[in-house]
Amino acid sequence: MATTITVIPGDGIGPEVTDATLSVLEEAGADLEYDQQLGGVAAVEAVKDPLPEQTLDSIRHTGVALKGPLTTPLGSGFRSINVAIRKEFELFANIRPVVTLVPGQRYEDINLVLIRENTEGLYVGVEHYIGMEGDPRAAAESVMIITRFGAERIVRYAFEYARDNGRKKVTLAHKANILKFTQGLFLEVGESVARDYEGEVEFEARIIDATAMQLVKDPYSLDVLVMENMFGDILSDLMAGLVGGLGVAPAANIGKDVAMFEAVHGSAPDIAGQGLANPSALILAAAMMLDHVGQREVATRVRKGLRETLSDPRTRTPDLGGPATTSEFVDALLENVR
Ligand code: NAD
Repeated sequence: MATTITVIPGDGIGPEVTDATLSVLEEAGADLEYDQQLGGVAAVEAVKDPLPEQTLDSIRHTGVALKGPLTTPLGSGFRSINVAIRKEFELFANIRPVVTLVPGQRYEDINLVLIRENTEGLYVGVEHYIGMEGDPRAAAESVMIITRFGAERIVRYAFEYARDNGRKKVTLAHKANILKFTQGLFLEVGESVARDYEGEVEFEARIIDATAMQLVKDPYSLDVLVMENMFGDILSDLMAGLVGGLGVAPAANIGKDVAMFEAVHGSAPDIAGQGLANPSALILAAAMMLDHVGQREVATRVRKGLRETLSDPRTRTPDLGGPATTSEFVDALLENVR
C-alpha cells in the first residue's frame, strides 16, 4: 500500500522545487500518495493563518512531511513557521548530511553529517525588549535554554546515528569556555553520553569557532558533528558551502512520531519564479524521506540520478555555475532516474 505523506510546497522558490521533486519521485517509482497542505505566506494569503490547523492535522495523521521553504518576515510579523512545526511535533533532531555530488567544488569526496539540536538553545523564542529613558526598545534580551534532557537526547541520537551508519567519530562543538552554564551543561552531558560508546565510536569536543576553522581547513578530519540549535544553523550553511552551496543541502527533522524533510535553504525570494532554482536540496531531502519510509531502492535511484545529472556541467543550474534552468535540469534528471 502506498505511504501517504503531507506536502507543503511553501513560499518563494518552494512551489518550483516541490513540483520538481514530486515529478522526480514519480519517475523513480516512489510508492507515495500526497496530501497537499498550506503553510507560511501562502497560507496567510489563503486562510489568514501561517500554520493552519488542517496542515498540523495532516502531519499528525501521516507522520511524514515534505516541506518547501517558508518565508519568515524579519523582525516583525509572525514567528518562524519552521520553528513552530519543529516545536509542535518535538522534532528534536535535525540531520544535515553534506556530501560531494558536484565535482570541482572547493573539496572532493566530502562526506559529513551535522546533527543539530532543534528545540532548545536561543531558538526557544524567550526574548523581549527592555525600555529605558523613554525608549521602549533601548535593549533586547534573548534567553538560551539548554536542558539535561534535551542535550542527552541529541548527543545520544548522534552516537546512535554514527553507530548505525558505520561512522567513526562524533565531534561535539560547544562554547563552554564562555557560556559556562548553558554550553557547559551541553558539554558535560555530551562527555557522559560518550562514555557509553567508548571503543565503538570515537568522541572529541571542540570549541565552536575552532570547529568552523577546522571545517574549512581540513574537513576530512571530521565525521559526525553534534551541537546546539543556533550553532548548527550557522555551521550547516558553512558546510553546504564545502560541496557547492545551499542548492545541494538537505535536512531531516526527526521526532518520536513525526519526521519532516526539507531543504536547508530558505525561500530565496531573489530568484523566485525565474526558473533559476536548484531543486537538488529538496530532492535529496525526499531521498532521506524515502529511506525513512522504507523505500531505500528508490532513494538510491534518486541519488544516483542526481549524481549523474550534477556531474554534467551542461545540466547544472546557475548556483553551481551551470547554464540550465530548473526545468532543463529536471528534464535531464528524469532521464537519469528511470
Ligand atoms: P535563502 O536560503 O532563501 O537564500 C540565500 C541565497 O541562496 C540566496 O541568494 C538564494 O537565491 C540562494 N539560494 C537558496 N536556495 C537556492 C536554490 N535552491 N537554488 C539556487 N539558489 C538558492 O536565505 P534567505 O534569503 O536568508 O531567506 C529567505 C527566506 O527564507 C527568509 O524568510 C527566511 O526566514 C526563510 N528561510 C526558511 C527556511 C526553511 O523554510 N527551513 C530556511 C532558511 C530561511
